[in-house]
Parts: sequence; C-alpha cells; structure tokens
Amino acid sequence: MLNFASLQPPLSITGLDDLPDAIVVIDQHGQPLLCNQQATQILAGYFPSLWQVDATSTHRVLDRYHSPLSAEQLPLQRIVAGATLNNEEFVLIQNDSSKKRWIALSGGPCTGSIKAAGILSIRDVTVFKQEETRLQRQAFLDELTGLANRNAFIARVNAGLAQAQPADSMALLFIDLDRFKDVNDNLGHQVGNELLSQLGERLQHQIQPETSLVARLGGDEFAVLMEHITSQDDAIAMAECLQAIIAQPFQLQQHEIYIDACIGIALGARHYGHAEDWLCDADTAMYQVKAIPDRHWFVFDSSLQVQQSQRLQAEMELRRALDNGELRLHYQPIVTISTQAIIGFEALVRWQHPDRGLLMPGEFIGTAEATGLIIPLGWWVLEEACRQMQVWTQAYPDTAHFTVSVNMSSKQFSQKNLVQRVSKTLAQTGFDPRRLKLEITEGVLIDHSESIIDVLEQLRAMGIRLAVDDFGTGYSSLSYLHRFPFDSLKIDRSFIDNADQDYEKLEILQSVVRLAWNLGLDVVAEGVETQRHYAQLKALRCESGQGYLFSKPLPPDAIEAILVKDLELDLPAD
Ligand code: C2E
Ligand code: MG
Ligand code: MG
Repeated sequence: MLNFASLQPPLSITGLDDLPDAIVVIDQHGQPLLCNQQATQILAGYFPSLWQVDATSTHRVLDRYHSPLSAEQLPLQRIVAGATLNNEEFVLIQNDSSKKRWIALSGGPCTGSIKAAGILSIRDVTVFKQEETRLQRQAFLDELTGLANRNAFIARVNAGLAQAQPADSMALLFIDLDRFKDVNDNLGHQVGNELLSQLGERLQHQIQPETSLVARLGGDEFAVLMEHITSQDDAIAMAECLQAIIAQPFQLQQHEIYIDACIGIALGARHYGHAEDWLCDADTAMYQVKAIPDRHWFVFDSSLQVQQSQRLQAEMELRRALDNGELRLHYQPIVTISTQAIIGFEALVRWQHPDRGLLMPGEFIGTAEATGLIIPLGWWVLEEACRQMQVWTQAYPDTAHFTVSVNMSSKQFSQKNLVQRVSKTLAQTGFDPRRLKLEITEGVLIDHSESIIDVLEQLRAMGIRLAVDDFGTGYSSLSYLHRFPFDSLKIDRSFIDNADQDYEKLEILQSVVRLAWNLGLDVVAEGVETQRHYAQLKALRCESGQGYLFSKPLPPDAIEAILVKDLELDLPAD
C-alpha cells in the first residue's frame, strides 16, 4: 500500500533546493522518487490528489475553471501515460475552501531510467492569479455606477444562453435615457455622472440579484437581464416599474432633474446564438419606443428586424448616392400670376438611382431625415442650386433677378454652424444672398421654437429671404407669422385645390392672402394645376404661383430650353 499522505521521497538532492520551482520525479505509480524543498512546501497534503481521485481526501485538485478532474485528467496520470504538460494551471483547494492555491505545472515522461516515470516542475502562481482576478473584476465593473459593465453583461447573457433549457424564458431590457445629453450639456459632466450613479443604485435596488443582472452598457445606456420569467407580462411589469423609478426626480447639487427612459424588451432564450444578437433586438425595440410619442416600452418582434434591415439598406444606399453624386436637382418655375413671367425656381431634389431610375423625394427624404443624412444632402442641394443659378445668371443675363427657393429640413437647424455654412456657400458660389429663398415648414418652428428666431434673423440680415412652406398642412398657426421674421408664405396645394367649389376653403384662402398682405408677406400659391385654380388666384390677387399648369419641376437642360426661348412658358390663355 502506497502512502500518499505527504510528500516524502526516498531521495533528496540538496542542489535542487536552490531552484525557484518545485521539482518532483515520480515513478510509474505516481510515487515521488525525488523532490526539492519547494515541492514539499507547495504540494504538502495535495500530492496524492495529483495522482488519484480520493473522495475521502480533504485536499483536492481542480482544473483552472474549478471543475473536478476525472482520474485520466489528473496531471500525474497523464505524465505517466506519456503526455507532456506545459505550464498547465490547476487549483489546489481544501474541501472547506479555507485554503486555495494556484499552480502552473510543466512536466513529461522520463526515458532512460527504469524507476523514474516522469518529472514535473511546479510553480506557485497564486499571487499572479489573485492579481489577474482583481484586474478581471475591474474589467467587468463599471467604475461610475459599480454595476456590471458591458463585458460582464455579455458574458453573463452568453452563459445564460448556453445553460438555457428549451422551456426557459428570459428577457432582456435595453434602457436608453431621454435628454441625458441636455443634462450633460447644461449642467456639466459632474452632474451627469452623479445622475448616472444615482440611477445605477435605483436600478440595482429594483431587481432580484439571484435571477437578474443590471449593467451599464456605456453612456446613458443600461440593460437588465431577467433569467427566469413566466411570461412576457413579467418583463413588461419590470419595464414599467423601471420606467417609474427613473421618472422620479433626481436631486443633484441643488437641481431637481426629471428624466425619462425608453425601454426595448426582447424576449427569448435558446433561439439567440449570441448575446450581441439579443441585445441588438432589444436595441431595435428601444428605437421603436422613441418613434412613438408617450410610449415607454416596446416588445421586439421579428417584423421590426425586417424594418430595421430595410432601413439600414436604405441608409447605405443613400450614403452611396451622396458619395457617388447620384443626386440631381430639378427646378420648378415660380411665376407672377398677373404677368405670367418667371420670377424664380424652387430647387427640388431627385435621386438618379442606378437600378430604380429617377426617385422622387417622397421615396428617400424620410430615410435621409431619420438617419441624419438630410444634413449633407441639404448642404449639397444648397451648393448645387447656388452654383447652377450662378451659371444661368452668366449665360442668360435676363435671369439675373431670378430667385431660387431651397427647402431646409428641421435637422439642418440643429446645426450650430448653419449661418456660417450658408454664408460660406454664398461666398464660394458668388450667388447674391438676396436671390436665395429658404423654405421652412411649420414643423421646423415647432421643433426649435424660440432658439430659431436668432438664426432666422441672422440669415435675414445677410439678405436671404425666408418662406413658410406648405402653409395650411401643419398647425397653421397664424401667430408664427407674427413671431418669426418671414418674407413669404407658400400656401399648400390642398388649400388651392377645390377652393372654387368649397366655399369655406375659399373663405380661408381669402383671409390668409389678406393676412399675409397685412403682415407684408408675399404669397406663393402651390399646386396650381388647372385654369380654374389660376383664375381663382387671379381673382384673389395672389402674387405668385407654382404648379403643373405652368410647369412641372424640370431638369437643368429643360430649364435651359425655356431660358433660351426668352423665358416663355407655354402658359394658359388669359
Ligand atoms: P415642397 O417643398 O412643398 O415642394 C413642392 C412639391 O409639390 C414638389 O414635389 C412639386 O413637384 C410638387 N408640385 C408642384 N406643383 C404641383 C402641382 O401642380 N400639383 C401637384 N400635385 N404637385 C405639385 P416633390 O418634388 O415631390 O417634393 C416633395 C417634397 O419633398 C417637397 O415639398 C419638399 O418638402 C421635399 N423636398 C424636395 N426637395 C427637397 C430638398 O432639397 N430638401 C428637403 N429638405 N426637402 C426637399
Ligand atoms: Mg418647398
Ligand atoms: Mg410646399
């Protein structure tokens, strides 16, 4: 019977004690033939467990993941069987977990000696491992909130996915704060950080740590994993509860701050291969929340995925269109109603799509707005319109008084350098600012309210003219016309259409024209399609008009054909 209780080899060579590592030579039964001092210290009590599984032993050897080893996996067995180990890590642990030590073991079989079957060197790496664990913990912790960070969250979700049974239901909640940027911008980063930290505590307090994990993914994004839910209602209840605690005021350095959150929920378990895919779906659902006013949460469904991939595709194509110069401008003449003379054009964007032909703005402006691409698109339109007008001015001096109207999107007004950019474009193209009209819909005024007045005043000070576009389709608040410095009013075609038959419409049209006059605004009627419209506008003494009756929007060469013919449109008979 072999004695495994301690490491007491028959031989000892003193020189070996000077080596930094523990050295052991074993026979084919895993018995120590030779060892140094270090080996006795490191392996005392554990040596038998390196060779055989003994349920009664108080000392055990585990693999680096703390899993028990079968007999064939034990290091000495492997060496005797002929394997070579290269710095393989093992954990030496007492059953009551009171002591734990990490070792790195190298070794292999011995040849040439009848008795020695293998030699191994062992290094105690406990200190390194403790430091590694500390660093790892740090790498998995969000410093600001003390919550799990993105890495930790992904790791836990992946582990949850790997262990999930077919019947298990889990939920992932993606939380994004609204207006957090405003807090940072207006009150400073310190207040912003304090808010995130307080929010972290609130969220942590709300979940059950045994079955849920809350993490800060970065910025103002948080996520919650619920590992066991019975139905989607549990996840919704959690989302509502989190929303309610987020909506409670935050007391931050004398400021009482209210914020809101959008929460995307993705249910699932086994059908997700990876945590990132699952998070992506919850993120998609979160964006859906943002699109619906007064909504705080949304549960992902796969049709959203289709929508999102279509959106991404459209965005990619539009980006390419901008890079490859696939955008075009068409110009629609604006005429003086009384004289029928052209006084300018409205520049309208088109997309010469390589596969789908010429696309109208209705097919891509929405994508451009949603993705922010409307900003580069808008600048391109402005530059191109000014450039083209300058070319025509030089080629056809009679057009030197023509104006060009350019549509401006609300997003463009979020740009801080808007005025400088417009001014630079005018300077670069040499186009006279007094011939530029910027068309703005009421939506822009609503989005930016007071902050826009200053910008509009600056544009106007440069000589640029400003028009309210599509008047009558939005809020049609007449107070806007007083408050904002406009020069023109473009009446939407829905007002013009049928005005001759619909008495009420006619009344409104009449009073809008009169009001515009009183405010010193000139009026442009949009969508003049028929002789009847034309006659009506003449009777109302509306100054100018734009519509298919005069001309459709035309590409530059077709406009040139008109300019060559002495500015004559095939206008209707008087
Ligand atoms: P909008 O600024 O109100 O432009 C007038 C729209 O009415 C144009 O449509 C024009 O083709 C159409 N139209 C003109 N006369 C008639 C008519 O007699 N009957 C009818 N049924 N329609 C008429 P389009 O070119 O499809 O543009 C639609 C909208 O897309 C524009 O409405 C504008 O809001 C937007 N848009 C066009 N170009 C740009 C651009 O460069 N930037 C921005 N932000 N928006 C643009
Ligand atoms: Mg317009
Ligand atoms: Mg319009």
